Amino acid sequence: MFALHVYRCVECGRRIQSDKHLSSCPHCRCKVLIHESGERRKSCSCGGSRCGTCGSCSCG
Ligand SMILES: [Zn+2]
Repeated sequence: MFALHVYRCVECGRRIQSDKHLSSCPHCRCKVLIHESGERRKSCSCGGSRCGTCGSCSCG
């Protein structure tokens, strides 16, 4: 078992799987990725329900 992160790019809409944190889309280099699953980078008090903080910490 390994930590797998799933991101979705808001620019091209592709779903990207990675075993490490990504800061930009490998397809179009968009820097806005939605963290859909995987270990969270930081703990966030919202519990993953995407509060305003999640935009910057990518916990959602
Ligand atoms: Zn993209």
